[in-house]
Amino acid sequence: MIVRMILKLNPEHPLVWRSPDTIQLGIDRPVAVVDRVTPAIEVMLFALQAGVPRSGLYMLGEEAGADHSTITAFLKQLRPALVAPAHERHHAIEAARAIVKSVHIDGAGQSANRLRGALGELGIPVCPDGEADEADLVVLFGYYVFDPERHRRWLRRDIPHLPVLFGDNGARIGPMVEPGDSPCLFCVELERADTDPAWPAIAAQLLTRHPPAESVRLSLDVVARVAALVDDHLAGRTNRLRAHSLGVDPNGHVTRHVHRVHERCGCGVLPGLATLTPDSSRRSA
Ligand SMILES: [Zn+2]
Repeated sequence: MIVRMILKLNPEHPLVWRSPDTIQLGIDRPVAVVDRVTPAIEVMLFALQAGVPRSGLYMLGEEAGADHSTITAFLKQLRPALVAPAHERHHAIEAARAIVKSVHIDGAGQSANRLRGALGELGIPVCPDGEADEADLVVLFGYYVFDPERHRRWLRRDIPHLPVLFGDNGARIGPMVEPGDSPCLFCVELERADTDPAWPAIAAQLLTRHPPAESVRLSLDVVARVAALVDDHLAGRTNRLRAHSLGVDPNGHVTRHVHRVHERCGCGVLPGLATLTPDSSRRSA
């Protein structure tokens, strides 16, 4: 069976004229620029908007006065703006299907519910409680401090986890823990006790205490950030909160904090591996 390759401009990259003889495809992020546009090229562009077999494009171009090498050069310039051939799209879809990743939401409350909805809109499956151990990422919601058993569970199972803690002046998102490769939440607690020796006593009192419910505005702000972090993580993009956390205050002001692997923590990360200079902590985002 002979498969005829159809060449077609990708409608995601709008075509505009930069000058009377130069076109650009894509506005915010131009993917191709073609200069010295001749009437023959205009004929080919018109055909490419609807889609045309490669042989048909050469025929049209040559009839309109372009020679073979000019058409080849034109196609090369235009390639990033063309729809990928059907077989390539098929492979991409199959590859995406083969690695459907899911998230477990550990915790309750309006922000947990809101995140569930946001992940649904992003097409990210959420694991029910019974299948939580199969998750590729866990988002933990809590107030003030976590009962250590909550995050120990995910650390032991080697499942990356992202904590979201609401307090009485906003929320802290992160660090995104990649077990064995970045500071864990025990490291973060030890670090806090280093800066405030009374912290362990205070933390013990906060385990069962809830701050006033987070405002809808703070919840929306936090959930939007968490949903984007989850999406990035599942897509394999850089972990922006590896050894970092974000403090989001009720007015939407964001501060970025650096965390380090604590030398007294037994999480198995070699101190120094994910250590950043403590001096650089608490800088504004
Ligand atoms: Zn640790």
